Amino acid sequence: MALLTKAPRGTADILPNETNKIQYLEQTFAVIAGMFGYREIRTPVFEHTELFQRSVGETTDVVQKEMYTFTDNGGRSITLRPEGTAGAARALLEHGLSSDAMPQKLYYTTSCYRYEKPQAGRLREFHQFGVECFGAESPKADAEVISLAKQVFDEFGVKGLSLQINSIGCPTCRKAYYDALKAYFNEHLDALCDTCKGRLEKNPMRILDCKSPVCAEIAGGAPVILDYLCDDCSAHFAGVKKELDTLEIDYTVNPRIVRGLDYYTRTVFEFVSDAIGAQGTVCGGGRYDGLIEELGGKALPALGFGMGVERLKLLMENTDCFFPAPPQCDIFVLCADAASEEMVTLLTADLRGRLIAAERDLCGRSLKAQMKYAGKIGAAFTVVIGEKELESGEVSLKYMQTGETLAVPLKNFVDVFSEMVDQAFDEWANDFAGEEAPLPPEPALRVIDGGKGKKRPPLS
Ligand code: ATP
Ligand code: MG
Repeated sequence: MALLTKAPRGTADILPNETNKIQYLEQTFAVIAGMFGYREIRTPVFEHTELFQRSVGETTDVVQKEMYTFTDNGGRSITLRPEGTAGAARALLEHGLSSDAMPQKLYYTTSCYRYEKPQAGRLREFHQFGVECFGAESPKADAEVISLAKQVFDEFGVKGLSLQINSIGCPTCRKAYYDALKAYFNEHLDALCDTCKGRLEKNPMRILDCKSPVCAEIAGGAPVILDYLCDDCSAHFAGVKKELDTLEIDYTVNPRIVRGLDYYTRTVFEFVSDAIGAQGTVCGGGRYDGLIEELGGKALPALGFGMGVERLKLLMENTDCFFPAPPQCDIFVLCADAASEEMVTLLTADLRGRLIAAERDLCGRSLKAQMKYAGKIGAAFTVVIGEKELESGEVSLKYMQTGETLAVPLKNFVDVFSEMVDQAFDEWANDFAGEEAPLPPEPALRVIDGGKGKKRPPLS
């Protein structure tokens, strides 16, 4: 039975009290990516297995150990996407976007699947914010992509991240480097893990990214690519650093970063935190100038990053970053007696028609129990509708936080309340029986402006 009531290992449900946080992250990311000229792309959750073998690379951990691959009923080998770049690159080629004006700037929010050992910050289903910039070779593009990621972190108020950059060159400079690596690792051949033994001839740089502690220690003494860069790659890397300096973005050159996917060339970078344990890389990216050609297209420079949404959220929680309050009920329409049910239905529907978060009882509760419930769900206001109100034509609007009330004619109620909601809350509070404006912005109203306590924009 546990199989029916327990999600698969390495997956996580996002419950209603957490989804608003994720929505806030997604919306903010979309806005910032949009400001940099990126437009959203959505690609399928599964692709032909060959796509990832070809792009991510046969000798990577992802392809060798982590992919969710299965044969579908038509006998095709299908893989759940382990990352977002391959699908975006495939779509670019399939739909001829590569012949549009360059650069093509695409962003995505996507789920990814990797069969890994689950731990804090490492899941089997996780999510990435990503950007892909196709068609720009200039180091300015590298710095711009890095600055986009940085602006996302800055907007969220994330502190203490270190940006580490490196250049891993191009196939030209890698020839000599591979020889040097092979010579070095051959001296330590016996100690390497079996996977790395197999990588030595085909792709010795992959050994630098192995997670096994023994391999990692050996890799620590290996020659570094920066000493082998060709003139073009050196100049490109110098250009990236200069542009970062101009943008006043701090970075450290870490010659040990190689990234886990084969398609990288030249610039690679990571944003690393020490506030979320061992899985500290919150964002990783770089350039992959050979990818499009590898997939059968004309050579096209490309670069981008993937940002781990779960790691970002964890980091923000661990460092007390701001998250907006979950949306709450603006007004609960309380029903005092059976005779008033219809009016409650109509009034609630009218309020909702004005885009006000209005609720009413659906469980046959007594008036007292309805009031308690309204308090529990954090309704900002309540209004009682009963025979008395129907007769007098006047209702009493109650502000729950202070208990203050305001008499409003029933027939104007929706107009009056909607007006209040559309006004800045302090203005409304001044109108409130001529008293001072003692009230903080409403939780429910705050959500609409992203929770920063600014005025709610008019809804229409
Ligand atoms: P790591 O070295 O931590 O395995 P990676 O190099 O495999 O990371 P990328 O493929 O570059 O990661 O993915 C980009 C980002 O996605 C990472 O920086 C990380 O924030 C996030 N990420 C990668 N794998 C996972 C996972 N299994 N669970 C949660 N987040 C992940
Ligand atoms: Mg990994």
